[in-house]
Amino acid sequence: MERVDVVIVGAGIVGLAIASEVARGDRDLYVLEKEQGYGQAASSRNSEVVHAGIYYPKGSLKAELCVRANPMIYRICEEKGIPHKVLGKIIVANGEEEVRQLEAIFKSARECGARGLEIIDSDRVHELEPRVRADAAILSPTTGIVDAHGLMDHFYREARRKSGGDPLVLDTEVVGIGQSGDGYAVDVVSGGEPFSVEAGVVINSAGLLADRVAEMAGIDIDEAGYRIHWCKGDYFSLTGKPPARMLVYPPPPLGGASLGIHTVPDLAGRIKFGPNAYYVDEINYRVESELEPFWRDIVRYLPVVRKEDLHPDMSGIRAKLQAPGDPVRDFVIRHEEDKGYPGFINLIGIESPGLTAAPAIAEMVAAMVDEILD
Ligand SMILES: Cc1cc2nc3c(=O)[nH]c(=O)nc-3n(C[C@H](O)[C@H](O)[C@H](O)COP(=O)(O)OP(=O)(O)OC[C@H]3O[C@@H](n4cnc5c(N)ncnc54)[C@H](O)[C@@H]3O)c2cc1C
Repeated sequence: MERVDVVIVGAGIVGLAIASEVARGDRDLYVLEKEQGYGQAASSRNSEVVHAGIYYPKGSLKAELCVRANPMIYRICEEKGIPHKVLGKIIVANGEEEVRQLEAIFKSARECGARGLEIIDSDRVHELEPRVRADAAILSPTTGIVDAHGLMDHFYREARRKSGGDPLVLDTEVVGIGQSGDGYAVDVVSGGEPFSVEAGVVINSAGLLADRVAEMAGIDIDEAGYRIHWCKGDYFSLTGKPPARMLVYPPPPLGGASLGIHTVPDLAGRIKFGPNAYYVDEINYRVESELEPFWRDIVRYLPVVRKEDLHPDMSGIRAKLQAPGDPVRDFVIRHEEDKGYPGFINLIGIESPGLTAAPAIAEMVAAMVDEILD
């Protein structure tokens, strides 16, 4: 059986970012991806927002990695010419209850280290975005948008450059993982043919299916709290002139499944709204939401938006550890040595802000790999 140093399962933005950090000329590396191309799941079905780290509990990996990665993303984009815009964002509040909610978010975000935040009054909101209705808002100047595919292309190029070859193997689904000697035998079906490869380190970055990949290795995912709950979000595009230039968000709905239906400007200057949040038990990307409640959420802060100008656009599915009604969960990024799986690294529940956090996640995982292999 062929033996390599590292196998990464999944070529979304996280797997590719990890590959770009882990790759070295003296390391054999495979990135195994079941689809015909990279980044076709969550990494190409999201808002492409570079988050500032506003919403996440202090001390969480989500907060820490997002705050660290926000300037990293912009640095990579500047250096490599990847399209992006630092548009800034406002989270708007209407009514006393929402203003109180906003103040609590502001305090917690500052404690987490989110940069440049300000609370602004309705006059300032009006100056920035005349069509937005708000009694107050949090202004986040470092929130922006990015070409997620441009970022993935960059990470893939870096992985190839550093490894001196092409580590990506497409159309290759991991179907079994067993401990073998001082590593793992990874069984795959590649282009319809079964084969196996042995790896010293396995990195599970399989997004929506990461719990299944952990289970293949023998981990009891219910005992570990690793079961993923798929939570879909639909988007509606808006025809006509965008009513706002910045990213405009409501306060996050209670329950923590989403950040609320917000403006999603793209790099071409068009605008969508979304995503909402509802749990599903199959992966399909049809827009299934009704327009009426979606539109009602929008007109609370952007009353000029007409229902007839909104059209079903796209959807994405979040890999949530949080089951319906449960409290918010953090990313799991862990070397599972203490569970009896030395050399096995799990990344589970990498929902938002996973796109933003990818370069910081990659550094964290690369440090684990160095510790295992060096
Ligand atoms: C609606 C929505 C909006 C979002 N908005 C934002 C945002 O604005 N900003 C932000 O920072 N984050 C956002 N996110 C989160 C972000 O998109 C994800 O955190 C990120 O894309 C996760 O990347 P990933 O590589 O872990 O997963 P994925 O992109 O899902 O990649 C996992 C890969 O693993 C492959 N795979 C699975 N099982 C196997 C197997 N057995 N063998 C081989 N390959 C396998 C899959 O085919 C897939 O390509 C959003 C997510 C959603 C769903």
